Amino acid sequence: MVTIPAPLRGVQRQIASTLTKALGLTEPVQLRRTDPDSVDVPLVAGPVLVVGDAAPGEGGGDGSGEVAGVVSTLRSWGCDVREWSPETGAPSEQRWGAVVVVLTGLTAPDQAAAPVLALGSVLRDLARCARVVVISRLPSDATRARVDGTDDASRRDDRAGDGEVSPAEAAARAGVEGLVRSLGKELRAGATANGIQLADGVDVLAPAAVGTLRFLLSARSAFVDGQLVPVTGDGEAPADWARPLAGKVAVVTGAARGIGAETVRVLVRDGALVLGVDVPAAGEALARTMNAVGGVALQLDITAPDAAERILEAIGRGPFRGRLDVLVHNAGILRDKLLANMTPAQWESVVAVNLAAQLAITAGLAEAAPGLVQVSLASTSGIAGNRGQTNYGFSKAGVIGATQAWAVLLGEGGGRANAVAPGFIETEMTASIPAVQREISRRVSSLGQGGKPVDVGEAVAFLASPQAGGINGQVLRVCGQNLVGR
Ligand code: NAD
Repeated sequence: MVTIPAPLRGVQRQIASTLTKALGLTEPVQLRRTDPDSVDVPLVAGPVLVVGDAAPGEGGGDGSGEVAGVVSTLRSWGCDVREWSPETGAPSEQRWGAVVVVLTGLTAPDQAAAPVLALGSVLRDLARCARVVVISRLPSDATRARVDGTDDASRRDDRAGDGEVSPAEAAARAGVEGLVRSLGKELRAGATANGIQLADGVDVLAPAAVGTLRFLLSARSAFVDGQLVPVTGDGEAPADWARPLAGKVAVVTGAARGIGAETVRVLVRDGALVLGVDVPAAGEALARTMNAVGGVALQLDITAPDAAERILEAIGRGPFRGRLDVLVHNAGILRDKLLANMTPAQWESVVAVNLAAQLAITAGLAEAAPGLVQVSLASTSGIAGNRGQTNYGFSKAGVIGATQAWAVLLGEGGGRANAVAPGFIETEMTASIPAVQREISRRVSSLGQGGKPVDVGEAVAFLASPQAGGINGQVLRVCGQNLVGR
C-alpha cells in the first residue's frame, strides 16, 4: 500500500478544499454516528412519525394491526411516537427524528399515493440526520404464503393465481424500490431513506424485521442510504439489544487498522470475544488494536496455505474454547492499474488476498463451526466497476458471488453469509488515492462525503447479530448512496 507522506497530505487537502470552493459545494453535514467507546447516542434524533398504508378498518392494506405493532415496538424502545391518519394528517410543528412508512399491505399502485404523499408533507420538518424507513414486501417473492387472515378473497381475485403475486401487486411492491432510491437522493442534512423488504410469511414484528428497523433508524446506519434490505427469515431477538453478540466468538481478518480495527471495536462493544488476524508486518498495530479491547491477536498472512488451520488452532486456545460463531473476511488490498498496464503480480495478489483466501479459509473452517455467520467485505467497485480496478472489481464481484453460494451452504447448517459493500470510506487505503479523485469520490454520494470505518463496522456487526438472522445471501451497501454505477 502506498502511503502519502504527511506534508503531501496537507497539499492534497488544500487542493481538495480549493476544488470544493471552485465548484460551489457546501461543507457536508456532520453525520450522527456511534462511537464504540462511549455510551450509545439516542436511537433517533427526535419524535417518530408512523404512516400506514391503510386507515384502521379499511380494506386496502394489512393496515392497522401492523401499524399498531410497529408503533408499540417503537414505544418499547423509548421513542416518542405519533401516528398519521388520513383524517387528521400528520401532527405539525415537529422536528421528526424519523418517519416509518408501513406499506406491507400494498396490492396495487394506486394505494401508495396517500401514505407516500403524507410522507412528502413532513419532509421539510425532518431533523438533521433524520431517518425515513419504508417497510414493504419483496416484489420477487412469487410464493406468497396465504396463511394470514388478512388475505381476503376480494384481494386474492386481483392476483394472477395461487401462489403468485398479481402484476398490479408486483408493480406496487417494486415501485417502493424506486421511491426509496429516489427519495434518498432528495433528502438533505444527513437524512437518509432506506427500505426493508419482507418476504411473504415474514411478519412485520418478526425479530429480523424489527432488528433491521432498529438498525436503520439508529446512528449505526449513518452511511447507509438509498438501500433496500431484503428480510427472508424471522431471525432471533437478542436477550440484550445493547450486547447482541454476548458470548459469541468472532474472527476478523485485516484487523490491524482501518475498517477491520473499527469492526473489532464494534463487535467487542456488542459483546463478542474477538480474534484479530493481520500480516506479521502489521503486528504492532494489530497488538495495539486487540490489546485496547481485550481481544487476541494472530499474526498471519491469510494467503498462507495453512491459514484456516492456524485460525482453528488459535480459537482452540485461551478464552475462545474452540468456539467460532462469526467470521469477518475484511482483509483486502488494492493494486490499481489500467488493465492494459497490469502486471501478473498486480492481478494475482489482489485476487489471492481479496478472494481466494476467503474461499480457502471458509472451506477450512465451516465444518468446525456449524451455524457459522459470515460477513465479507465486498465493494461498490465490485458492483458498479471502477476505472483502474479490473483486478479489484473482479475480486469484489467474486466475493458477492461466493457470498450467495455460501448463503446456501452455510444456511444448511443454520449459518448465514452476507456481504457489506462500502463506497468511499476514509482509511489509509483510500488516503493513497490522488486528492482530486478522492474529493470527487467523496462528493458523488447522496450524503456528499466519505464514510468512516465505524460506519462499516456497524453494518458488519448488525449482519453478524442474531436479529439479522432473517438476512442471508445479501449485499448491504454502506456508501452514502454512491451516485456512480448501479
Ligand atoms: P486497509 O488497507 O486500511 O486495511 C486492510 C488491512 O488488511 C490491513 O491491516 C492489512 O495489513 C490487512 N491485510 C492485507 N493483506 C493481508 C493478508 N494477506 N493477510 C492478512 N491481513 C492482510 O483497508 P480498509 O480501507 O480498512 O479496507 C478493509 C476492507 O474493506 C478491504 O477488503 C477493502 O477492499 C474493503 N473496502 C474498503 C473501502 C474503502 O473505501 N476504504 C471501500 C470498499 C471496500
